[in-house]
Amino acid sequence: MEASSMLAPSEAVLVSVRVRPHNAAELRADTASAWVTPSYDQRMIKLAKGRDGNRDDREWIFDKILPPDTDNARAYATSARAHVRSAMEGFNAVIFAYGQTASGKTHTLTGQPDTPGIIPLAISDLFGQIRSTPDREFLLRASYLELYNEAIIDLLSPEVGKELSLSEGRKKGEVVINGLTECAVRTEEEIRRLLRMGEERRKVGGTDWNQRSSRSHCVFRIVIESRTVADGTRTPGRDKTTRISTLSIIDLAGSEKHTSSKERNAEGRHINQSLLTLKLVISKLADMASKRNVMHVPYRDSKLTRLLQPSLSGDALISVICTISPSPVNMAESISTLSFAQGLK
Ligand code: ADP
Ligand code: MG
Repeated sequence: MEASSMLAPSEAVLVSVRVRPHNAAELRADTASAWVTPSYDQRMIKLAKGRDGNRDDREWIFDKILPPDTDNARAYATSARAHVRSAMEGFNAVIFAYGQTASGKTHTLTGQPDTPGIIPLAISDLFGQIRSTPDREFLLRASYLELYNEAIIDLLSPEVGKELSLSEGRKKGEVVINGLTECAVRTEEEIRRLLRMGEERRKVGGTDWNQRSSRSHCVFRIVIESRTVADGTRTPGRDKTTRISTLSIIDLAGSEKHTSSKERNAEGRHINQSLLTLKLVISKLADMASKRNVMHVPYRDSKLTRLLQPSLSGDALISVICTISPSPVNMAESISTLSFAQGLK
């Protein structure tokens, strides 16, 4: 075990690894798992000894390991709830799912009607918190966009497939997504309807949806504004100030190596570049939070980090959930995912 992995987890960046269960095809082919996962609440994951006498017994330590029997509700409680609550209190929060295609990113973030993922669970949590905070009034605004081959597509615009541009704001570090649709939402049902619309748009937009969804980053964002209810009895003061923060939940493009046709290679390069920059940016932010000296955070090196810059800067709480397949067939990609995860702090 490396001494550095034993340090207390940095408060600013939480790194979780979720191993999904075997799917039916994998079970038919080989029931072995490439991984020894701990019971819940332990932090070490290691390579299983293969039947072929595989001697690679490397192990890794992360803030959280979510073994295959973890359900979405537990994943939410472990790796997202604190972030959502902190966004309610005025801090920015950003939650990412990173991993190879078919490793469980969308299952974790979106889920299915019977196993809702982090986005719908966060929405219920937000509205539950709003109901139990009668002394503040809240205004929520939702947006949903897709970053595909460096184009930003507004998934909630009345105009389907509308492309948006980025520009600098007036303040330093401010980035404006020109013309982004931000819908004020008052009820859970309203926001769920917007989400469904966004999901439908993603499907319609691509000729081959699976192909496309694995090659685009999807950013769901809620701007949370709140202030104390004016009841005339309070003295004006700090409490009166409006709090404003964002909760961003990002389903990243598949992290697998991109090869094949020329056009795809350009896409692949964009994806690789944006994921690499994301890793650098997050690790710099983790350094900053633990007071290590940081000169420069390379937000501008990719469109993804650029558009997320305002949400990531400052006191943002970041959660990165790295998803891996249990199958020995995917071992190389899974190890590459763990290397990414390790590089985050
Ligand atoms: P990704 O978004 O990373 O490409 P998906 O989330 O679409 O991967 O997952 C691929 C398939 O595996 C889907 O059919 C999904 O329902 C299933 N799956 C993924 N993770 C889990 C899990 N933790 N439990 C059960 N099924 C899962
Ligand atoms: Mg997906």
